[in-house]
Amino acid sequence: MSDAHRTKYIFFTGGVVSSLGKGIAASSIGRLLKARGYSVTIIKLDPYINVDPGTMSPFQHGEVFVTDDGAETDLDLGHYERFIDTNMSRHNNATTGQIYYDVIMRERRGVYLGKTVQVIPHITDEIKRRILQAGAGDKPFDVVLIEVGGTVGDIESLPFLEAIRQFTMEHGYAHVMNVHLTLIPYLHASGEMKTKPTQHSVMKLREIGLQPDMLLCRTELPISQDAREKIALFCSLPPEMVFEARDVDSIYAIPLLFEEAGVGQRVVNRLGLEPREPDLSRWRQFVRRIKNPTAFCRIAVCGKYTNLHDSYKSIIEAFVHAGVENDAKVELKWLDSEEIEKKDPDAFMQDVNGLLIPGGFGERGIEGKIAAIRFAREQGLPFLGICLGLQCAVIEFSRNRCGLEEANSTEFNPATPHPVIDLMETQASVVQKGGTMRLGAYRCQLQKNSLAYKAYKKTEISERHRHRYEVNNAYLQPLQAQGLKIAGINPENKLVEVIELPEHPWFVGVQYHPELKSRALAASPLFREFVAAALRCKLGRSENGGGAAF
Ligand code: GLN
Repeated sequence: MSDAHRTKYIFFTGGVVSSLGKGIAASSIGRLLKARGYSVTIIKLDPYINVDPGTMSPFQHGEVFVTDDGAETDLDLGHYERFIDTNMSRHNNATTGQIYYDVIMRERRGVYLGKTVQVIPHITDEIKRRILQAGAGDKPFDVVLIEVGGTVGDIESLPFLEAIRQFTMEHGYAHVMNVHLTLIPYLHASGEMKTKPTQHSVMKLREIGLQPDMLLCRTELPISQDAREKIALFCSLPPEMVFEARDVDSIYAIPLLFEEAGVGQRVVNRLGLEPREPDLSRWRQFVRRIKNPTAFCRIAVCGKYTNLHDSYKSIIEAFVHAGVENDAKVELKWLDSEEIEKKDPDAFMQDVNGLLIPGGFGERGIEGKIAAIRFAREQGLPFLGICLGLQCAVIEFSRNRCGLEEANSTEFNPATPHPVIDLMETQASVVQKGGTMRLGAYRCQLQKNSLAYKAYKKTEISERHRHRYEVNNAYLQPLQAQGLKIAGINPENKLVEVIELPEHPWFVGVQYHPELKSRALAASPLFREFVAAALRCKLGRSENGGGAAF
C-alpha cells in the first residue's frame, strides 16, 4: 500500500467503570471522519469466551445484533451501523472465544508444528490479524476504529491490550491512535470532581505499555480548566487532548458535541489525515428534528425482557428514527407479558396508540402476548409483530378466528394438534445451539397491494432474520380463508415473511427483524409507517371520543 493510502487505526479502551459508552464514542468519531469523506469501519473486540453472544441470555448481554451475513454479534455493532451507515459483517466482531477457537483449530491442523502455542505471540497475532482483516477488502478503509470491550485492569482484556501495544510498534505511532474513556465522578458531599480514578486507569494502561493520545472523560458537570490541566499533567498528554463527554439527552447529539469541542480536528491532526471541512448538515437536521417534535404517540412494547432495555436496543433506536420521519416523539410503554397474563389487556392498553410485540424465545409470557394481540386486532389498534410477534399473531388468529382452539407453536407445545408455527425440516435435525438458527439477510417478495409495499415502495426487499420456527404452510388455507393476508414470502423457499389483516387499520407481522436495518438517516420503512398509523389512530380515537386522554 502506498504511504498516501495507509489505513489509520484508532483504539478505544475504557477505564474506571464499565458502560461508559465506548461504542457510542467510537461511532461518533466514526461519523465525524465519515462527514469528512473518509471511509470508516469499526470492529469490536470482546474479551468473553463465548464464541458469540448468540448463546447468552438477553439479561446477560442485551440484544444480539445480527448482520447481513448472519453473524450474531455485540449490540455495539448496531450503534456502528446506525451512526456510520455502513453494513457490518462477521469480521467486525471478534471474541476471545473465536480467537482461541481459531488458534486451537490451527494447532490441531499442525500449523504450529514443533512450537509451544502461547498467548504471546499466537493469540496476540490472531487479534492483530483480525484487526487488519476488518480494515482490508477490495478497497482498504481509510480509518479502522477498534473498540476493546471490558475495562482496563480486567484480567481477560490483557491479551487485547498487549496486541494493541505490538500493533502500534509494528504500524508506527503516526498511524495508530489511542483513545481512552474514563469517568470523572463528582462527590456531592465535598462538592468536588475527582480525577484520581482517571489517573489510576491511565497508570494501568501505561503499565501495559499504552499511552492514551486522547481522553474522553464522562462527567455530569463541566470539567474546569484546572481539572483538565491536572489530568493532562498526571496522564502525560496535552490539556487540549482531554475532552469532557457530558451526559446528554440523545446519543445522536454526541457527534455534534464532539465536533464542536474539536475532537474531529484533533483526531485528523494526530493521524496526519488531510484536514477537510465536515459535512454534518443532515445529521444536524436529524438531531434538530429529534429535539423539536410536533406530534406525540405512545406505543406499548410487550415482551419478556422489558426491565432490561438493552435487550431491545435496535427497536428503541428504530422508534427514534421513525419518530423523526414523522416529526413525532414516540414514547414507549413497556409491558411485561407475564403481567398481562394476570389481568385483562384492557387495563394496560387504554392509553396507547399502537402495540409492538418484539422477538423472543421460550414459552414464558406467551399467553400474555397473545391476549395483547387479540386486543389490538379487535380494537383496531395499530400492531407490528416482529418474529415471535408474528408467530403469536398467527397463533391468536388461528385460535380466535379460525376455530383452531389449541393452535400453538411447537416451540411452546410440541404436542399441539395444530402446529401453526413449526420447525422446518432443515431445523428439525439441528442439535447444536450456537449459530444454527435461520440467520442473516433473506430476500422477501412483497405483494403490491399491501401495507408493507406501501412502506418499502418496492416488491423485492432484503431483511435480517434470527429464528428457528416458521409459519406452517399447511395452515395457510384456513388462515387466508378468514382474511389473513400473506403479504410477503421468501421467493426461494416460499416461507411466510409478512402477514397483514386488510380489515384492520394497520396490522402487520414480519418474520424478520426490520429494526436491525434502521439507521439514523434512513429509518426502517415499516417502523416509519407503523408510527404514522399510531399517530392516525390517536387522532381517530380522540375524534371519536374513544381511548384515554393523551
Ligand atoms: N423463538 C422464535 C423462533 O425461534 C422467535 C425468535 C425471534 O423472535 N427472534 O422462531
